[in-house]
Amino acid sequence: MPRGLFITLEGLDGSGKTTQIKRLAAWMQKRGLNPVVTRQPGGTATGDRVRALLLDSGSTPIAPMAEMALMFADRAQCIAEVIEPALAAGKIVLCDRFTDSTEAYQGGGREIGSAPVLELHRIICGDLQPNLTLLLLPSLDVCLERARRRNDRAIAQNGADEGRFEQEQDAFYRRVWLKYREIAKREPDRVVLIEGNLSIDEIHEQFVEAVSERLVTAGHKA
Ligand code: ADP
Repeated sequence: MPRGLFITLEGLDGSGKTTQIKRLAAWMQKRGLNPVVTRQPGGTATGDRVRALLLDSGSTPIAPMAEMALMFADRAQCIAEVIEPALAAGKIVLCDRFTDSTEAYQGGGREIGSAPVLELHRIICGDLQPNLTLLLLPSLDVCLERARRRNDRAIAQNGADEGRFEQEQDAFYRRVWLKYREIAKREPDRVVLIEGNLSIDEIHEQFVEAVSERLVTAGHKA
């Protein structure tokens, strides 16, 4: 059985990942490709508990290293429980965020640096690399505005504030944004960078183009 294809989606909160992953999964389903869709943090029962801990902005602040360790704990569980079994069974895995997020948010945003993140990835995740990473990078202003609007809506609707990261200062997001660009420049073969303030349809078209290429290379029917 040939190994499946591991595709990750990356970008800041509000960059449009959730919107695009749904459209991409539907596009694949129409072609009988039936992807396994997962997300980080979360994606497993254990991971959902870690996610709640990470995103609960009401609790006491989590130290940056504790935050990074929790991200990797969640990821290790998701790899063992969801990603590896699916890839071994020849399936396509679509994952909303992976280690690039930790490098951008903890490495860049929290200023831990890339090296510890990549080292932990090697140790904890067996250095598992996506075959393709779709990185959505609209302008920083657009991301901030969308994420804040959504967070305000969530608070108004149910009082839930899944907004630990949304409460960060603009300088934090700027560092995240810059780190994402750095990753894309460092790994141009893996990362497809989609920049600019494009429409949902335009981004979907670019996603389909990039994915189709990889599907053909991997021997799937596009
Ligand atoms: P993420 O999952 O990256 O946080 P979402 O997909 O939830 O982002 O999108 C955040 C908000 O921005 C949603 O209200 C969504 O409808 C809107 N949105 C997503 N992509 C675009 C786009 N290309 N242009 C305009 N609005 C968008």
